[in-house]
Amino acid sequence: MVKKKGRPRLKWSLKDKEIVARYQGQIGLFGNVICRICGRSFPLDIMEVDHIKPISQGGTDQPSNLQLLCPACNRKKSRKKTQRTKVTAYNPLDFRAPIIRI
Ligand SMILES: [Zn+2]
Repeated sequence: MVKKKGRPRLKWSLKDKEIVARYQGQIGLFGNVICRICGRSFPLDIMEVDHIKPISQGGTDQPSNLQLLCPACNRKKSRKKTQRTKVTAYNPLDFRAPIIRI
């Protein structure tokens, strides 16, 4: 019996990101989105989706568990996650971060 380990969701559509931004109240002036970490605003299409509670800890893909970060902050955050992950040895699937190409 093959057990599926969640569904890989590597790409987020603009629509997805807009839903998250509205849900999290991250919409700023001119429709730009405010990064939760650095507080600067960026166009929606470059923002990256981050899981507030990682999937590995039971987090979901629901807007209530998602936030938008700018690429620089998301990279920093996932680097931290990776370091912590090394110590606790999580499933490698947990490393997947949304890959967004413009
Ligand atoms: Zn940022």
